[in-house]
Amino acid sequence: MSGTFVIFDKGPVCGNLRGMKGSSGAARKQLLEAFRRFHAQLEEILRAQGPLIRGSLGTRARVCGNPRCHCSRGELHESKYLSASDGGKARQVHIPVQDEEEVAAGVERYRRFRQMRVQLAELAQVQLKLAEQLGLTLLKPYPPGHPLPPPRRRGRPPRGGRSHQQ
Ligand SMILES: [Zn+2]
Repeated sequence: MSGTFVIFDKGPVCGNLRGMKGSSGAARKQLLEAFRRFHAQLEEILRAQGPLIRGSLGTRARVCGNPRCHCSRGELHESKYLSASDGGKARQVHIPVQDEEEVAAGVERYRRFRQMRVQLAELAQVQLKLAEQLGLTLLKPYPPGHPLPPPRRRGRPPRGGRSHQQ
C-alpha cells in the first residue's frame, strides 16, 4: 500500500527521534526488567508457608548422668539445640528428640524466608538506581550556556554529616 510508504518516507525524522530517546528507552527497559524480577521475588515471598522458626541448629554431645550408660564410658549422646539471640544475648534451647524434625523444617523455612527478603531488598535497590538513571537520561541541561549540574548521587551521608546540597 502506498499509504504506508508515506510514513516510512519520514525515515530520517523517525531515526532522529529514536536516537534521542535511545538512552531513556534502554533505561526504561532495564527498569521494567528489574521490576519483573522484583515482582517475581515478591510472588515467591507471598507463596512462603510457615511456621518459621528463628534460630540456627546445633548439635551437642552430652552425658545423661546414668553411671551405667555408655555415655559414662565416653560414647556421648548427641542432642540438637536451637540457638538465637534473645535480648542481645545468645541463647541455646535444647530440642527434644520428638521435635527435631519439626524444628529443623521450621529453621530451614525461616532461613529461606530471610534470604528471599534480602533479595527483595536488593532488587528494590536496583529499581531505585535504575529509576535514578532513567531520570538522568531525561534530564535537560539548563541553562544551555552554563547548565546546573545533575543531582548528586543520594547515598548514606558521610560520617559526621555534610549539609544536604540541592
Ligand atoms: Zn547416657
